[in-house]
Parts: sequence; structure tokens; C-alpha cells
Amino acid sequence: MPPDNSTSEFDPNSLSIITFPHPGLRYVAKPIRRVDAGLKQIAARMLELMYEHRGVGLAATQVNLPIRMFVMNASGEKDEGEEFVVINPVISRPRSNEEAEEGCLSLPNIHGNVVRAKTIHLNAFNLTGGEINMDLSGFDARVVQHETDHLDGMLFLDRLKEGAVMEEAANIEALEIEFQSRQRLGEIPPDTVLIERLADWEKRYC
Ligand code: ZN
Repeated sequence: MPPDNSTSEFDPNSLSIITFPHPGLRYVAKPIRRVDAGLKQIAARMLELMYEHRGVGLAATQVNLPIRMFVMNASGEKDEGEEFVVINPVISRPRSNEEAEEGCLSLPNIHGNVVRAKTIHLNAFNLTGGEINMDLSGFDARVVQHETDHLDGMLFLDRLKEGAVMEEAANIEALEIEFQSRQRLGEIPPDTVLIERLADWEKRYC
């Protein structure tokens, strides 16, 4: 039987992290207009995946969902720090720049220095419809900017200096070769099917 792509009987446990160069990572996510029990389950599963993979943030884009939501916990530890589910983030008031090394769960083995605003203001919603209004700085601000980039189809790779990209060229190529071979083997559907599936999700939440 072909896989059932309908979103109605969706199992959040089937979500997994997609890696570069999966075309879903380049999709610009749409604002969320409705929060239901399914979305709460998705957020819970995203947090689980984030901790499992030792990350500090995970965008819906990275589990191949085209909706503007990300989860984060700057401590990276389940029972420490503060956990956030951030819906429809809008970043404003960027102030001064800072360069620091970043990595990404969708770009395993790749690291590089990225210049980001040192302080930002975040306006968003949480899962209960409450408004998030926060001034953030340092690492928290960096995570929010990295995850919001994902929702716009951007990767930290796009923000690396040319020299830094060259340094990672072999690792980038290795990811491309692995993805292509998994797609050839049918483990990952062809690009056209991947894009159709995203449209189904938009109908449900956007
Ligand atoms: Zn990332």
C-alpha cells in the first residue's frame, strides 16, 4: 500500500529530523491560524527530538512541516533551563552584532561562525494563545534567529563567509551524496511528492 499522506490520522511519532539538502528545508513556512490537539502533540514530539539529538532549538521546517513554529531550550537539557514553544515569531529591534560558532541538527558535522544581532525583541504566541513579548540577548537571541531563519527556508550555511563554506565543502558534499542515494533507494520520496505533502499541512493549520 502506498503511504497515507492524509494529515487527519497523523502520528507525531512518525516525525523525524530532515537533513540537508532535503527540499523541505528551503520551504518558506506559513503563519499558523489554528492550534489544535494535534499541533500540541507535534510540539511535544519536536521537543523530544530536540533533546534526543542534543539540540537547543528545532524548527517545524526541520521535521518537514511548513508551519511557523519552533521549540527551544537554550540549556539543551530536559529538566533544566526554560522550554519554549514559539508560534509565528516576529523579530524586531536588532542591536549590535556578534559572531559565534553555530551548528544545526539538519546539517550534521558542519560548523561555522555566523554574525547575528546581539540583542533582539521577539513577539510571538505560545500554544495556549498567550503572547510572547521578550527582549533577548546573547545565546538565546542567537537560537531564536537561527530557528526563525529555518522558517524562512534559510540555513546558517547561507550566512557563512565564503572561506568557511570552502572549509566545510567535503562535509557538505557528503550530506548531498547521502541524501541522493537515500532518495534513489526510495527511503525519501521524490521532491515533487515532498512538496505536495507540505501543501496538505498548510491546508490544515494555515
Ligand atoms: Zn538549524
